[in-house]
Amino acid sequence: MDILMIGGGLAGLAAALDLAGRGHQVAVVERKHYPFHKVCGEYVSNEVLPYLRRLGADPAALAPAAINTFLLSSPGGRCLTAPLDLGGFGVSRFALDDFLYRLAQARGVTFYLKNTVTDVAYDPATDQHRVALADGRELTARVVLGTYGKRANLDRQLQRTFSPSARPTSA
Ligand SMILES: Cc1cc2nc3c(=O)[nH]c(=O)nc-3n(C[C@H](O)[C@H](O)[C@H](O)COP(=O)(O)OP(=O)(O)OC[C@H]3O[C@@H](n4cnc5c(N)ncnc54)[C@H](O)[C@@H]3O)c2cc1C
Repeated sequence: MDILMIGGGLAGLAAALDLAGRGHQVAVVERKHYPFHKVCGEYVSNEVLPYLRRLGADPAALAPAAINTFLLSSPGGRCLTAPLDLGGFGVSRFALDDFLYRLAQARGVTFYLKNTVTDVAYDPATDQHRVALADGRELTARVVLGTYGKRANLDRQLQRTFSPSARPTSA
């Protein structure tokens, strides 16, 4: 295959849709099975709408709630409001990720679900990456994208220098 994404969150799914749309053979390895819940504020800025539409993934299909006002409330019930210049929409990650997954699947992206990438090694002899899965299988891909979010075990396994050893603490 041409390109493999490690992780099928928003980054992996958007990249898969984009690259499949450009004619590449694409696969995604995702640890979970869609649909799944994710801790997230679930506010998406309208800034991303043109890109999602270009991917043929207009979230209007999910009937999201339009959000145009910022509201700050105190425990005593006092509220401050301010208009949001650009605005955005509210949609659950459960629905949004599943929506992008189904579109990607319909456009020929191959998914390896409930599977975890445990190692990646580049083989210069074949100009391919060898990608090890937790179930013992090995996949090969010319290009591998690490779309597995922040602070994944894989960063330690690959000895990425930018991988933080601990979460930042507040003063
Ligand atoms: C509490 C909280 C609230 C937030 N609220 C908002 C908000 O309101 N609006 C907003 O825009 N953003 C918000 N964010 C940020 C947003 O969630 C992230 O920017 C976004 O999820 C990043 O997408 P991603 O695809 O890079 O990573 P993720 O969405 O984390 O996806 C990574 C995927 O990779 C998979 N994975 C990881 N390791 C492996 C592996 N080795 N093999 C296979 N699969 C693997 C995981 O299962 C996961 O599905 C919030 C974040 C948090 C923590």
